[in-house]
Amino acid sequence: MSQAEIGLIGLGVMGANLALNIAEKGNRIAVFNRTVETTRKFHADAGELKSQIVPCETIEAFVAAIRPPRPIIIMIKAGEAVDQQMEALKPHLAGGDIMIDAGNANFRDTMRRFDALKDTGLTFIGMGVSGGEEGARHGPSIMVGGTEESYARVEKVLTSIAAKYDGEPCVAWLGENGAGHFVKTIHNGIEYADMQMIAEIYGILRDGLKMTAEEIGDVFGTWNRGRLNSYLIEITEKVLEATDPLTGKPMVDMILDKAGQKGTGKWSAIEAQNMGVPATAIEAAVAARSISSMKGEREAAEKILGLPSIGEFQVADRAAFIKDLENALLAAKIGAYAQGFAVMSAASKEFGWSLPMPTIARIWRAGCIIRSQFLDEITSAFTKAPDAANLIVTPAFAAMVKETDGALRRIVSAAVLGGLPVPALASALGYFDSYRRGRGTANLIQAQRDFFGAHGFDRVDGADSHHGPWGSV
Ligand code: NAP
Repeated sequence: MSQAEIGLIGLGVMGANLALNIAEKGNRIAVFNRTVETTRKFHADAGELKSQIVPCETIEAFVAAIRPPRPIIIMIKAGEAVDQQMEALKPHLAGGDIMIDAGNANFRDTMRRFDALKDTGLTFIGMGVSGGEEGARHGPSIMVGGTEESYARVEKVLTSIAAKYDGEPCVAWLGENGAGHFVKTIHNGIEYADMQMIAEIYGILRDGLKMTAEEIGDVFGTWNRGRLNSYLIEITEKVLEATDPLTGKPMVDMILDKAGQKGTGKWSAIEAQNMGVPATAIEAAVAARSISSMKGEREAAEKILGLPSIGEFQVADRAAFIKDLENALLAAKIGAYAQGFAVMSAASKEFGWSLPMPTIARIWRAGCIIRSQFLDEITSAFTKAPDAANLIVTPAFAAMVKETDGALRRIVSAAVLGGLPVPALASALGYFDSYRRGRGTANLIQAQRDFFGAHGFDRVDGADSHHGPWGSV
């Protein structure tokens, strides 16, 4: 029997689907899972793909089943488990073999693992995979970090399994060591912001306009046929239209309003802060998930403080208001993506990666959770203006911001006056308003800092005098 082209460890939700995808595209694959029974069941259920899959019950048999130099995908629980799995594999590998961590690793762990394998003859790839279960099975977006040579060894297989947008595979080598996992982290940070903004708009429709889940689903359905067309808007419509089989009520109304998180949104916000890049929409989305989890505290606070009683939601022209909501969501989304790309641009300099912005937008157009037509427009904007300081100053996006930010302003104002929380939408508006204002208010901050700490300041006239006359005040 011929040797496998590639190996995969970890037949959980993602690993099993990725392995089937790899096998289906004509690549022979060896698989291994810590719990042997899972491997047996996986193979038994693989149907017509069975002959393409080599199920292995020991690490020795698994390694022997793969053609050297061996690319081995590790798709297991992120964190220490990956270090343990790598240690278990290492003694069985030979020069040129490549360990590929495809889980949601913190890119700093990826950098450490990459460095630890330097000069051992083995190489390490940190590979971000997005698209959830469906994506893994039928075409994910794949973000690769590692040496260019190691990518060349796996490029054919990865290209065969990646999602396609207009025939172009959504996979790319993005840079050395942690580049792939960093980009995946920011992808997830943007995903947090995108989801939070959609949820805030849903809140205005539900609590402001008092619409039913089904009615709101119809609104999202209409938007999905316009400029907001995207996977997240599409699934929002489907979610809102689903019925709870237990009660017959809308499913969404029966779900507790406590959101979970696994850490990638928080990592995005932390890395943005570390580099001094504003990512306020992502930060707002992470904080919103945290506040959502404080269900008991929120209920107790509502009893004490009550809901804001500024007045009922006043909407003179409902259709015009819903059009404003659509444009507001588009404007806020531009803010969130602009921030995410700005964080990647700063990281590229900080870590010496040369991250290709148009390529990143290109491989996010299909396969991943934030996939959308909008990313095609970002690809085009960054291709035409690769050195733009920020997405929102590229000609196409500057025009879009000018066209839609009025709607965002009206919607944020209405929500604030109606007492509805819109932290992510408001943060995007605050970002536009701060970023586009040549003369801000930090002169006062500088004066205060100099007053209490003699930190000094620069003057607008460039004069060589850096402290205020505070002693005499
Ligand atoms: P999962 O269904 O919970 O499966 C976990 C897998 O990890 C199982 O194969 C398990 O083996 C293995 N494992 C756990 N601890 C291990 C250890 N100490 N040593 C060896 N193997 C161990 O997880 P998943 O959803 O497939 O996620 C896998 C990775 O993909 C994670 O990093 C996750 O963050 C990432 N990811 C997930 C998604 C998603 O939508 N689910 C999307 C993108 C990325 P046993 O069968 O022996 O327990």
